[in-house]
Amino acid sequence: MLRKAALSRLSTRLATYDADLTVIGGGPGGYVAAIKAAQLGFKTVCVEKGETLGGTCLNVGCIPSKSLLQNSHFYHMAHKDFKSRGIEVGSVKLNLDQVMKAKDGSVKALTGGIAHLFKKNGVTHVTGHGKLEGPNKVTASKADGTTDTINTKYTLLATGSDVTPFPGGGIQIDEETIVSSTGALSLSKVPERMVVIGGGVIGLELGSVWSRFGSKVTAVEFLGSIGGVGIDGEVSKQFQRSLQKQGVKFKLNTKVTGAEKQADGSYKVQIESAKGGKTDTIDADVILVCVGRRPYTDGLGLESVGIEVNKQGQIPVNDNFQTSCPSVYSIGDCIRGAMLAHKAEDEGIICVEHLAGKDVHIDYNCVPSVIYTHPEVAWVGKTEEDLKAENVSYKIGSFPFMANSRAKTVNDSEGFVKILSDSETDKILGVHIIGPIAGEMIAEGVLAMEYGATAEDVARVCHAHPTMSEAFKEAAGSAAFGKPINF
Ligand SMILES: Cc1cc2nc3c(=O)[nH]c(=O)nc-3n(C[C@H](O)[C@H](O)[C@H](O)COP(=O)(O)OP(=O)(O)OC[C@H]3O[C@@H](n4cnc5c(N)ncnc54)[C@H](O)[C@@H]3O)c2cc1C
Repeated sequence: MLRKAALSRLSTRLATYDADLTVIGGGPGGYVAAIKAAQLGFKTVCVEKGETLGGTCLNVGCIPSKSLLQNSHFYHMAHKDFKSRGIEVGSVKLNLDQVMKAKDGSVKALTGGIAHLFKKNGVTHVTGHGKLEGPNKVTASKADGTTDTINTKYTLLATGSDVTPFPGGGIQIDEETIVSSTGALSLSKVPERMVVIGGGVIGLELGSVWSRFGSKVTAVEFLGSIGGVGIDGEVSKQFQRSLQKQGVKFKLNTKVTGAEKQADGSYKVQIESAKGGKTDTIDADVILVCVGRRPYTDGLGLESVGIEVNKQGQIPVNDNFQTSCPSVYSIGDCIRGAMLAHKAEDEGIICVEHLAGKDVHIDYNCVPSVIYTHPEVAWVGKTEEDLKAENVSYKIGSFPFMANSRAKTVNDSEGFVKILSDSETDKILGVHIIGPIAGEMIAEGVLAMEYGATAEDVARVCHAHPTMSEAFKEAAGSAAFGKPINF
């Protein structure tokens, strides 16, 4: 007679599922798609190779980074700001272990929450590395060597992205002293000096965290401005000034060419002018490599269904997220477009709604971007640079938080709201905010743009007083009528 353990091993090996939809990848794109599909009546399986659901976003991305950003902001405030507000707290000490515990606690609660949502909605969660074995078959290989099989009508590839290594291999990530964003979320002590390679969103968020905790941070950026793709030029300049005021140093138009380890374990980071010629070195105890992310499709079996990735490594899809194999779809970081959790989520929902026969679409011009530093930076739609390049005639309505009563009252008045609207029609074309709660305020801009609002429409909407959102109304008024009221 087979012993119970052997029986269970055998049954694991033989586990076979029949599904309407199999989602490979349980990140924000995949797990949201799986839940929506189940809600629409699809028999849904989600295959995830990680120990927990939630993907990059919940495990090593949006969520842990925002926990560190919030708590490093509080620490920075307690150190540099409380006294001027009349709050004296004696000596302020950093307990990094506790900071990390708080971060891990948030991650655990949220990833566990998805497992609960799967149960609630009837999504079958299969742990293992998912692989296409044909147009209607997926296998999930487990760490113990066993394999599950899923016979499926449709498959949705939502395998996300991974860290791009330093080009040329001259700087090898070890996640201890040369870290990617993942290692930078879990440093065991505050490095005295940190060099961030890349002045994009992730590098600036994490550089900001460690700078607030006391590290001397230098960000090296190949381009002449910071903030990455899509940021408005004027916002980028203000953003750089704000971070410099907090102590972050920048080397723009500069490329890192290598790093030499010193006898004491530190590094001499070699830099060179982007145009070539002038070279220099920067001393660092930790190097954070943030040169981007790349689509992740390793071991996915794309060849079994004839899918070829493009030059960027992305899975090509049509407007309905269908690949060249009609029963296989793909969304999120592993396809074209911005690598953002909310973009992946919206694509997941729209993709399964399409499978359910609904006629829906996504307007990528209305996908917002946020940098969660302090001040925050957020934008949606076109920048001034875009509009000039596209030869579109536009108006600018701008309002500084310095003149916003709530921002003045809470002594948090760096930045501005800038609204770009069409000169002829007044339709809002872009919204750019740098300020205390820009990430929350941008939702109003997204909603306005989704509904095709004009600047005057927004300027005539009653906004509560005193709120930061009045700066939004004032900026809209300034675009519509040429002048704000309170500035
Ligand atoms: C430090 C950092 C901070 C970020 N902050 C933000 C932010 O504030 N806001 C924002 O919008 N975005 C942010 N992002 C980006 C965001 O995390 C990604 O855009 C988002 O996670 C993409 O979702 P996804 O579902 O496409 O892929 P992922 O989240 O990468 O999920 C893919 C999942 O697929 C699994 N997988 C891969 N291959 C297989 C396979 N063959 N079989 C089974 N499972 C597989 C992976 O284990 C993973 O769980 C951040 C990223 C980083 C690194």
